[in-house]
Amino acid sequence: MVIEHFEEFSDPVDGTRWTVDVGFLGSRWRCIWGEGCQGILDEPAEALNHGCCSVGTELLDEDEAMAISAHVALLDDDLFQFHSWAEENGIFEDERRARTITVEGACVFLNRPGFAGGGGCALHLQAIRDGERPIDVKPSVCWQLPLIAEHGDDGTARLRRWGRDDRGPDGATMAWCCTEGENAQVGERTTADELADELQALVGPEVAVAIRDSVR
Ligand code: SF4
Repeated sequence: MVIEHFEEFSDPVDGTRWTVDVGFLGSRWRCIWGEGCQGILDEPAEALNHGCCSVGTELLDEDEAMAISAHVALLDDDLFQFHSWAEENGIFEDERRARTITVEGACVFLNRPGFAGGGGCALHLQAIRDGERPIDVKPSVCWQLPLIAEHGDDGTARLRRWGRDDRGPDGATMAWCCTEGENAQVGERTTADELADELQALVGPEVAVAIRDSVR
């Protein structure tokens, strides 16, 4: 069990006062998708390889929906298993364009085990092929997990780990949660180093460096 432990950091550039769970960022968590991840369903479901993509993803706003639409047009067919399906049914859950749609029990962008172009997120795979950073093309929630940044309106912000409560009522019945327990505590470096790009994008370069230094 990785104990929550919060410390404060100030951003010298914009003045934001961050409260950060250095207990988690100093742990050895890393994503173990395809290496024992049990998913987020009520029953352990390692063989499905859905990871946390079983329910599609919530999009930030219409700008993000537009950006994802634009990226779909750039996806190579051989990296996007549900390309034809998406052409017919779209990529959003409904006309509000607030969530990605699911197909066969998981996000439309999730290539399933055995797909010739590779399992996993089609947007992620395309970014790697194109020499881009996945965090620049994936929906925010997808690249930020398991971190959550919460901004107050008084110049403060909090950076914490994702947990089952963040799934609302469905969280209570999840069979497994990768930020709990020891299952995903298998990294060879700190979580802050493992998630260096994500951390920098969330808190800015100065605070990211300060956090990484503080947990080494
Ligand atoms: S972030 Fe956690 S739940 Fe999602 S794929 Fe990785 S290990 Fe699985």
